[in-house]
Amino acid sequence: MTLSIPASRVLPVMPAEQQAGLDPYMAQIITNRKSGLSLNHIIGCPLDCGYCVRHFWGNFEQKVPQLLVTTPEAVEVLVGHEAFRPDTTPIQLFNKATDPMLPGVKPHTFAVLKELDRRGLTNLVLVITRFHVSAADMELLEGLRNVRVTLLFTYSGIKDSRVEPIAKSDTTVSSILRAARMRRRTKVILYWRPIVPGWNDDPETMAGVLNVGRHADAIVFTGYYHKEENAEYLRELGVPVPYGDDFQRRKVLPGELDARVVQAWRDSGIATPLFRKTSCGVTYAHQVADYNGHLGVPELCDICPVAQVERCTAALRPPSEEEFRAALESFGYDTSAPFLVEDGHVLTSALGEQRRYALQHELGFQVWEVAHPHVHAAHGRALQGYVLSPEEQAQLDQARDRLAAAARYDDD
Ligand code: SF4
Repeated sequence: MTLSIPASRVLPVMPAEQQAGLDPYMAQIITNRKSGLSLNHIIGCPLDCGYCVRHFWGNFEQKVPQLLVTTPEAVEVLVGHEAFRPDTTPIQLFNKATDPMLPGVKPHTFAVLKELDRRGLTNLVLVITRFHVSAADMELLEGLRNVRVTLLFTYSGIKDSRVEPIAKSDTTVSSILRAARMRRRTKVILYWRPIVPGWNDDPETMAGVLNVGRHADAIVFTGYYHKEENAEYLRELGVPVPYGDDFQRRKVLPGELDARVVQAWRDSGIATPLFRKTSCGVTYAHQVADYNGHLGVPELCDICPVAQVERCTAALRPPSEEEFRAALESFGYDTSAPFLVEDGHVLTSALGEQRRYALQHELGFQVWEVAHPHVHAAHGRALQGYVLSPEEQAQLDQARDRLAAAARYDDD
């Protein structure tokens, strides 16, 4: 493998004894997330975003990025992973614990992209950044021929530099505008997140973000992870944190706030489409159907362009039971676990999040866990701000009963 990183730009590898002390999740080089199979062999970031997910895994204080393995090794681990499918599996680079465009990290980001491209792989690759993207970076991205890259710029419009120190500069906005101006095959998404009551949900801030978004291929919006660790950090800085102490597994974006975002977008009159889900924005930008099969939750799609709905409709097909079992087998997963193919999704139990995502990406069809209910119009987010109606509770109970019955049947 030829990975062209000048010796002076190769980051140090974290000493083994330090790696042994990492939280197991931080130590994982590959994890499967909803938006793609994620490569994270570099951890550490100096940007100090107050809501950073690294708070959850005790890594927030690591400001200097370090390698967990070398980049050539990391590429081999990625393409050799059980869930990796050439040309199909969506990939994310450095989405967990660093920013892929930091000066020290960037040579590694480009080395991975160039190597995947050299191998002729056409997988979608998501690169999420809020940092500086230069003209030279765009030329390099435009020089790729096979991998289909999307730059997702996290830009929230938050002005409080205690929450986002980078808000003091115009780094993100100028990078969005530059990338949008220079893009040809690279896609550019304004990743409008986190949207948090009291931080950036006033009409003026929303209009400002949307105005930047008019230059992008798509805008994707979402809430933030309301968890004890980041809430505590922000409260210590004196930042008002909404939602009380009702901490959540999923991102929080109440229905009322969702409606205001959509209305602000409509009122703005901009032509850039708005999406609730990352994979929807990415696939729209590349003119392919959503690889997560979100059309199985049709209330997500009320803001989607007609042509994209048609693409997703044409692609959405429930797997037969045989096909689902074959998919389980192809990944090496337990084929005896109970599942039910239902309208718009496959219901599973105790398969685990990462396996469900691998199946979802492979089949382009939603794969749900019976213990985590999907509430109408909550759009897969935390249930904060949503209440299960008696009908939804009944549906959930029935789903659990059906799966339990299927499990009994499988045991026979
Ligand atoms: S049609 Fe629905 S699933 Fe497909 S991209 Fe649009 S919002 Fe997403």
